[in-house]
Amino acid sequence: SAAAAAAAAASAAMHKLLATAAPKSVLSLPPPVGSVLDLVGNTPILKVSDKFDTGCCELFLKLESQNPGGSIKDRIALSMVAAAEAEGRLRTGGRIFEATAGNTGLALALVAARRGYRLTVVVPDKMSDEKIASLRGMGAEVVLTRSDVVKGHPDYYQDLAARLAREAEAATGEPVLYIDQFNNPANPAAHFAGTGPEIWAQLGGRVDAFVAGVGSGGTLAGAGAFLKSVNPNVDLVLADPVGSVLAPLVESGSCGKAGSWLVEGIGEDFVPSVLDLSLVTRAYSITDAEAFAAARELLRSEGVLAGGSAGALLAAALKYCREQTVPKRVVTIVCDSGARYLSKQFNDFWMREQGLHPRPATGDVRDLIA
Ligand code: PMP
Repeated sequence: SAAAAAAAAASAAMHKLLATAAPKSVLSLPPPVGSVLDLVGNTPILKVSDKFDTGCCELFLKLESQNPGGSIKDRIALSMVAAAEAEGRLRTGGRIFEATAGNTGLALALVAARRGYRLTVVVPDKMSDEKIASLRGMGAEVVLTRSDVVKGHPDYYQDLAARLAREAEAATGEPVLYIDQFNNPANPAAHFAGTGPEIWAQLGGRVDAFVAGVGSGGTLAGAGAFLKSVNPNVDLVLADPVGSVLAPLVESGSCGKAGSWLVEGIGEDFVPSVLDLSLVTRAYSITDAEAFAAARELLRSEGVLAGGSAGALLAAALKYCREQTVPKRVVTIVCDSGARYLSKQFNDFWMREQGLHPRPATGDVRDLIA
């Protein structure tokens, strides 16, 4: 029959193709590892294509979304737990508490599952359903708290996590560890030892500017300090949501009252203790509209599914690039995967509900990035 003849022809074509196909070289693939934790770090770097206007600069994205836990926080979860174990503050079966926008919690859940710890996370209620569902799926106990209060309020996520840890310890008599990424030196240390040196090596020792946001401040403090140590002239650039106090502090030396913003994971109402803001040479305040537009454009034009904080970093990096008059090599970070925000910035209904344009009128992201 005609169908049988067509199938025979397709089969013959495939065998001809297989006979001539050269297998790609796989010699550089890493060997099997014994734990998913061995897959943390060594993330790839992508050069942004000419679909984005980077002026006279080259722009690179370090894809921290490729960590097994889906974010840059895998690095600090490993280092903070390792430090606590080394200091004897954490033993098998022990309990960990943490205040988190979600990613540190997911990273800790990964480490806790592998190493046999119990984890309770306190998460502000503005964080995405995807993150909260993932946390619960990974076995963490999730305590949701208000997003509209600042440090010092008893319901503020960091104050609440510290209090719940103290209460749990008092109730059980068992030692409980409040990991406290905001004041934990093992947080920036992970970026000084890992993120920074990886960027430097991957870019062949030529990095002129590093653009980062601040949640705990660990990335900017740790990777920033490393890059400064190898290139004292490197520009450390802050990408900060409108409403956060940090960019105004850098740019004008004074901070107003903290506002609110939709982008998750970056922006603060105080300066985290791990961060030395005097190292920051330039800061940009980025609107939610700019951050989400940049993240959506990154998906459409480069195929990179990134969170809103990466959108804010990309928007700031593009502004920085376009302000330069001499060519520079600029690096920024895709902090986490956009899979965590499918119900938010990648959902046109949600975007409209927030009063944000789901699409730039002309398809050009510069329409939304002032
Ligand atoms: N982006 C996202 C999505 C985050 O969750 C965080 C951490 N809260 C950051 C960026 C900022 O990283 P860091 O804590 O190192 O300042």
